[in-house]
Amino acid sequence: MAKGNINVSVENIFPLIKKFLYSDHEIFLRELISNATDATLKLKHLASIGEAKVEYGNPQIEVKIDKDGKKLHIIDQGIGMTAEEVEKYINEVAFSGAEEFLDKYKDSAKDSGIIGHFGLGFYSAFMVANKVEIITKSHKDEPAAHWTCDGSPEFTLEPHDKTERGTEIILHINEEDNEFLEESRIRELLVKYNKFMPIPIKFGTKTETLPKPEGAKEDDPAPTKEVDDIINNPNPAWTKQPTDLEDEDYKNFYRELYPMQFEEPLFHIHLNVDYPFNLTGILYFPKMTNDLNVQKDRIQLYQNQVFVTDNVEGIVPEFLTMLRGVIDSPDIPLNVSRSYLQADGAVKKISSYITRKVADKLKSLFNNNREDFEKKWDDIKIVIEYGMLSEEKFFDKADAFALYPTVDGKYYTYDELYNAIKAKQTDKDDKLVILYASNKDEQHSYIEAAKAKGYEVLLLDSPIVSHLMQKLETSKENISFARVDADHIDNLIKKDDNKISKLSDDEKTKLDELLKEVIPAEKFTVQLETMDSDAAPFMITQPEFMRRMKE
Ligand code: ADP
Ligand code: MG
Repeated sequence: MAKGNINVSVENIFPLIKKFLYSDHEIFLRELISNATDATLKLKHLASIGEAKVEYGNPQIEVKIDKDGKKLHIIDQGIGMTAEEVEKYINEVAFSGAEEFLDKYKDSAKDSGIIGHFGLGFYSAFMVANKVEIITKSHKDEPAAHWTCDGSPEFTLEPHDKTERGTEIILHINEEDNEFLEESRIRELLVKYNKFMPIPIKFGTKTETLPKPEGAKEDDPAPTKEVDDIINNPNPAWTKQPTDLEDEDYKNFYRELYPMQFEEPLFHIHLNVDYPFNLTGILYFPKMTNDLNVQKDRIQLYQNQVFVTDNVEGIVPEFLTMLRGVIDSPDIPLNVSRSYLQADGAVKKISSYITRKVADKLKSLFNNNREDFEKKWDDIKIVIEYGMLSEEKFFDKADAFALYPTVDGKYYTYDELYNAIKAKQTDKDDKLVILYASNKDEQHSYIEAAKAKGYEVLLLDSPIVSHLMQKLETSKENISFARVDADHIDNLIKKDDNKISKLSDDEKTKLDELLKEVIPAEKFTVQLETMDSDAAPFMITQPEFMRRMKE
């Protein structure tokens, strides 16, 4: 049996680690399962290039509780380690990794916004265990090794008679950490961190009901069978190509992500980019209410299918944190504070990529099925309006599909609205006056009066719309919003009392549509009123400057 001293410069970093990571003890399981996954994927790779002379098969990872022995086992069928490799990778790599981690963590811990504790690795086992054993058999033809360490820098290493390839980690759980010997607690952690990891993870067995055999009687019980309880889905939707997925697959994945969410999402956005950064994911637009409160079901951040956090502040633009779904990127630095994150170049690029993809998706929904888009408007407007207010780039894109509904249920884009009202609703300085109501019932009589004069009245009732109006007033030229019950409306809008219309509203709309097609709007102005009751029912005028251009 070999004995040795782990070469760490900080004499006793165990108590330090414990103290610093107190609230995060639970991440040890994620770290050990990540290692087991890495070891399995390494084997897969070596087998595929012919370097490991083994049958890869269908390896899985098993988590087992030994309550009486107060032990937790994590067993994989991966690449394994020789004794020499244990010395190197555990005594040197794992421990130097832990030391480095501690160095980093001590500083950043002052900043309360740490988002994840990735990188602590194997060493995190000592947060919950007073003794850790590794029994491992390499895929190479060498005897298995048994490493033991009781949380001091001393370890033992001896041969072992394990014959199957792979690694078993045994944690002797501390008295005060015995929650990690509870089935329900471990299951909770597995579901939280490992639900979408790429190698099947077995945790106990479950009873599966089989179909009744032919000729079985009505009240015969259906036969059952004990099968491995695999807690994860190794191939979650976001890791697949969008072309391989149907709408139903996206909906199913939403239910998988949020089992307690019974409302279907409105639509999804599949993110998939590998240059200049690596990012995959699926975002969902849930039905929004006017309630801006932070929701419980939030976007989840993963790295290589390992859950990191559901606080994506700083990574996803704030207005999109109301969405749901998953983003997975190995390029997001984790052992850092939020403020550092926001200044990080890669993260900035990721954030603007997400904004662009969301805007593009909305644009295509608008273009492809406007009717449907209008139906969804009330449920999505809060995100879009908030985005227009907070991100200039999003404002520019959203201008094409942001909708302004009227009290009569018509939906205009800004340009459409402009064209619809410019003839009638301008003030003496030719400033466009956009009328709106915030409450159809309370402002009913004002709305009717405005409509009688031929004005269009918008219905703008979302909680941030006043900010949006201000934003539009500053970014569009020469416009102003006026609420329909403002007493100065009649003074505001230029009076055209001497204009007479011979057409009904219906005739006007039809004629307007027809004329739009045959008369280029950029060259002529059509006016559906005339000054003289004997004149033709409409007028076509040409702006002064156009006439001059021809001369
Ligand atoms: P990291 O995973 O970041 O490399 P860890 O501290 O988690 O750091 O692990 C240190 C090293 O120990 C790994 O790089 C790997 O070589 C080895 N190792 C840990 N767990 C296993 C395992 N289950 N099977 C094979 N090798 C392992
Ligand atoms: Mg690791």
